[in-house]
Amino acid sequence: MSFNLTILGTGSATPVLTRNPTAHFLQIEQDGYLIDCGEGTQNQLLRYKLRPTRLKYIFITHLHGDHYFGLIGLISTLNMHRRVDDLWIFGPKGLAEIITIQLKYSGAWLNFKLHFIETDTKNSYQLFENEHITVTTIPLIHRVECCGFLFREKPHKHKIIKETMPNDLTIEQIKLLKDGKNILNEDGSIKYDYRIYTTPSSKSKSYAFCSDTLYHEPIIDIIKNVNFLYHEATFLNDLESRAFQTNHSTAKQAGQIARKANVGKLLIGHFSSRYKDLSPLLEEVRSEFMNSELAEEGMFFEI
Ligand SMILES: [Zn+2]
Ligand SMILES: [Zn+2]
Repeated sequence: MSFNLTILGTGSATPVLTRNPTAHFLQIEQDGYLIDCGEGTQNQLLRYKLRPTRLKYIFITHLHGDHYFGLIGLISTLNMHRRVDDLWIFGPKGLAEIITIQLKYSGAWLNFKLHFIETDTKNSYQLFENEHITVTTIPLIHRVECCGFLFREKPHKHKIIKETMPNDLTIEQIKLLKDGKNILNEDGSIKYDYRIYTTPSSKSKSYAFCSDTLYHEPIIDIIKNVNFLYHEATFLNDLESRAFQTNHSTAKQAGQIARKANVGKLLIGHFSSRYKDLSPLLEEVRSEFMNSELAEEGMFFEI
């Protein structure tokens, strides 16, 4: 299954010319998922040739402006492009009201339907599923309600080994084998062991997006063993007390979370505007977790 990530924004709240505020774009099969939508995100979609018609779902982590001020502009543009397909927006309490009031006073009548789904940022739960993936919330600690999102591909079916397949199986029984279940005799004993007639499915791909947060170990259980983790790293660790005051993390702390959660790869972002040269952040995060990278705008990853 195609599962690709494009980085659209890597900055934090104070604007800098070299970095846009947070936005990531996931393309899973034909569907586009936007995670956060800082100011200027629609320009970034254009720059990196991501077709807004593909965009189906938007996930907003929290209501600090650097994570959603681009949303009303993007919605307005989709409308100007005569979008008719529904759009689903997931975000904390207040977001639906803010967007609705902006639309109301701009006199905009949308050609398409907006669905708002309010997130409970205090608990981890399955927020969304479709035929390809599930999305689980990751409660975070920040100055306002905030949660991250874990995108996980649904488990793959086992593959049938045609050569060993008995020819008396019904379609229902083949489905059971593909789901990794045995076919039983009437007395409950195993008639066909799925391990003999199928090969194991490949591991599901997963991407965890941890937005603005204090260093918060309870997320480790939720994101354990994910392929790919994004974690904010606003500061270097010499500003750990500043990170604590503002409910943010340092590069070192992001690396510690990645190591403890045994993730495949770590990407850090949300860099403070004070850092012109980001290489010390990379050096610091790699001292904790080697397979780390700095998020850069336009970066593309196949997960
Ligand atoms: Zn932020
Ligand atoms: Zn924030």
